[in-house]
Amino acid sequence: MVSVESDAVRPAHPYKTLVVLQASPFCNIDCQYCYLPHRSITAKMSPAVMQRIFEEVMGSSIIEEPITFLWHLGEPLAVPIEFYEGAFNLYDSVNKVYQRQSSHAFQTNATLINPRWIDFIQERRIGIGVSVDGPAFIHDRKRINRKGVGTHNAVMNGIRLLQEAKIGFSAITVLTNFTLDYPESLYEFYIENNILDVAFNIDEIEGTNKTSSFSEDSTIRRYKRFLANLLTLVAQDGGRLKVREFWTTLRSICSESHNPYNTMVEPLRILNFDHQGNFSTFCPELVAASSEEYAGFKMGNILEVPISSIFENSVFKKVYQEIQQGVSLCKQSCSYWDLCGGGSPSNKFFETGRFDVSETLACRAHKKIVVDVLLDHFEQVSSTTQVQ
Ligand code: SF4
Ligand code: SF4
Repeated sequence: MVSVESDAVRPAHPYKTLVVLQASPFCNIDCQYCYLPHRSITAKMSPAVMQRIFEEVMGSSIIEEPITFLWHLGEPLAVPIEFYEGAFNLYDSVNKVYQRQSSHAFQTNATLINPRWIDFIQERRIGIGVSVDGPAFIHDRKRINRKGVGTHNAVMNGIRLLQEAKIGFSAITVLTNFTLDYPESLYEFYIENNILDVAFNIDEIEGTNKTSSFSEDSTIRRYKRFLANLLTLVAQDGGRLKVREFWTTLRSICSESHNPYNTMVEPLRILNFDHQGNFSTFCPELVAASSEEYAGFKMGNILEVPISSIFENSVFKKVYQEIQQGVSLCKQSCSYWDLCGGGSPSNKFFETGRFDVSETLACRAHKKIVVDVLLDHFEQVSSTTQVQ
């Protein structure tokens, strides 16, 4: 699932369009579970590509607003500020014409944040998502720099700068099986550091990351205990910590709809551009796939064809058809369907090599376990209330 948080970016209706932009595939650090294959390549998106993207996205009637441009698929702040000054000037001049409801966001590892970036983020009102895996003894096991040294200090410096400038941010924590023994330490870390809006990913099988520490059934059982403990801590503390997994699932449980809307399986709800202008729709993680059968998931190049041509593209047609088959299978076979809507195509692909399948390791962790934990919690609360 998207480190870009498929559900995290799933707003209340009407659904926003998420346009994921790869300023550069480069990342300054070297997390051990990273799925991106080209993170040593320093090439950047050219002004010509950017101009075409803004013109096409803003000018196209098939792209619905509000639109969020999310700079991701590499470390966005590893590119100089001057790059973004140019990019935002282009965006301004195009948006002057089209006046679309749109905004920008960075998904960053926070290690490069400095006062200049803070000024730029404030001036341009850029939304921020920070990746941090908890206290140093957890974070530094996997989130290391290119010399193999933990990045926790640098990340916390970046977080402090954001907080001093009163720039709100959400956090993404990637869980490994090691983290599961420490729900209390994780909770304390968030509260002590005033990090109150978090989402979890797991070290999924994705892109260049070929294994997950969640593959064992025993780890899934430990994950359930971990989430249950964390939910108890959240509830005891009056819900101070907002955990995406709990709130989005709770919202789905409370909804009366039996037709869940899943932005990851609908064309053009998410639109991804790599730094060369190749575009695709559905999950951004597919940009990291090097599949010959699916032609690297390139569904067009913005310097050559308009976005609307995607519907005639053979890769798009093949992928979309298979995604729909997978969604149908989910609908027929899964008792969690109403709360999920068919899961994440990229997890299906990276785990099985195809899209026309249903359950994945990722959906067991991201969806099924979370639902079970919440329902168990409610049952427990209601039986306690009845006894009293
Ligand atoms: S910060 Fe993100 S892009 Fe960089 S190595 Fe870590 S997971 Fe990969
Ligand atoms: S099998 Fe998994 S992806 Fe499919 S609907 Fe159920 S929970 Fe979702």
